[in-house]
Amino acid sequence: MKLYNTLTRKVEDFIPHEENKVKMYTCGPTVYHYAHIGNIRNYIGHDILYRTLKFLGYEVTRAMNITDVGHLVSDGDTGDDKMEVARKRENKSSMEIAKYYTDAFFNDYKKVNCIMPDIVSPATDNIDEYIKIITNLIDKDFAYISGGNVYFDTSKFNNYYCLTNQDSNLVVGAREDVTADSNKRNQADFVLWFTTSKFENHELLWDSPWGKGYPGWHIECTGISIKYLGEYLDIHGGGVDNIFPHHTNEIAQSESYLGHKWCKYWFHNEHLIDESGKMSKSKGEILTVSYLENHGFNPLSFRFMCLGSHYRKQLLFTNDNLIHAEDIYKKLLKKISNIKEEGNNDKNIFDLYIEKFKTHLENDLNTSNALSVLYELLKDNNVNGTTKLSIIKEFDKVLALDLCDSNTKIPTELDDEIRVLINKRTEAKKNKNFEEADRIRNDLLEKGIKLIDTREGTSYEFIKD
Ligand code: AMP
Ligand code: ZN
Repeated sequence: MKLYNTLTRKVEDFIPHEENKVKMYTCGPTVYHYAHIGNIRNYIGHDILYRTLKFLGYEVTRAMNITDVGHLVSDGDTGDDKMEVARKRENKSSMEIAKYYTDAFFNDYKKVNCIMPDIVSPATDNIDEYIKIITNLIDKDFAYISGGNVYFDTSKFNNYYCLTNQDSNLVVGAREDVTADSNKRNQADFVLWFTTSKFENHELLWDSPWGKGYPGWHIECTGISIKYLGEYLDIHGGGVDNIFPHHTNEIAQSESYLGHKWCKYWFHNEHLIDESGKMSKSKGEILTVSYLENHGFNPLSFRFMCLGSHYRKQLLFTNDNLIHAEDIYKKLLKKISNIKEEGNNDKNIFDLYIEKFKTHLENDLNTSNALSVLYELLKDNNVNGTTKLSIIKEFDKVLALDLCDSNTKIPTELDDEIRVLINKRTEAKKNKNFEEADRIRNDLLEKGIKLIDTREGTSYEFIKD
């Protein structure tokens, strides 16, 4: 299998540390808000990688963290902890916030058929691990205490910018308007443990050799990864925004702690963008998978849309693009549902198609070409129904589009009409045209369709007699 490695900036042969075994780590969500569909695109990318590795016969162990403490508003160490922001916004405890948004995340994650990682661990569950690593880093002089906090000294780590291939012109927080932290020896240094500077009103605090405080964001992924997957990691991934500073800092602290190279392949997914250029959880209404579903879309139409483009290319999300993807996905399901089991499974043809499909996935996960093999198969008059269906079932182990599931919800034309009306009503409400909004609601009610307003948008149900 060939995979692009951010570390070497090349598509490389994938050779795991231990033959046939893969240790894979995915940076999890910061659970201070709903995960938007951009975040979910990233996890679909990871899911395709995980499923492909399994399809190719590797034994894969995969871990993911849940960031429930320490990720500050800026990816540098400035601003409040995002969990604190949410706690104040919603007047709940940090743990309540974390539980609510972790559940919401996995709910949406599963709706797009992403497989749960073998290990899912919240940052707050592994404090002892971070303390052990930070103590070791201080002992070895890679870390220092200043102004009460513990910092990693980036000047002590050779090749700190290895992941970005840039030199020191890339500085934490450079994109934000920040005042320099005078406790740092070098501007690129980052916090391993916060005690004094970010102490005010912070709800979650733990005892440590450096005083009561809480861990920085980067140390959690190092801690969780080493604790659950060991000292040698094969693949570590996230979205492209994680390359710097998050993954850059993870490499510096992990390798300084371990005393040897840590992760071989760095896997990064490009962003899903909207017409404004960037999706963000802090922007008004958050576009979630549940929101799409409440607007009559099948969440798997979104997965299908993601698979149509390469994970290393930006993907533009618009309503029209999704409607278009759903249309093609619907037609695909319809075609497959018309295939009848007839004839015997032809092993040679089966192997031939599986081989073609694999070749595209092995080429840095070329999912759109893998999908085109499916279309080629559907058109192939020399393949009988039984063989076709058995091949499609096999493809679906990676694509996970419920291709042969007769229960897959295919939105009907009526769903489409309702969706348009819901959008009109939302627009009317936004413009404070409540008369129009009520009219749409009542018209639908007369037709036996009840609208349900939820926090994530409006869904509907058919009223039974
Ligand atoms: P967060 O919850 O902000 O920590 O983000 C969770 C994951 O989603 C991270 O790995 C990010 O790199 C990734 N991510 C953030 N925004 C986008 C986006 N617009 N498209 C794809 N992935 C994203
Ligand atoms: Zn991480």
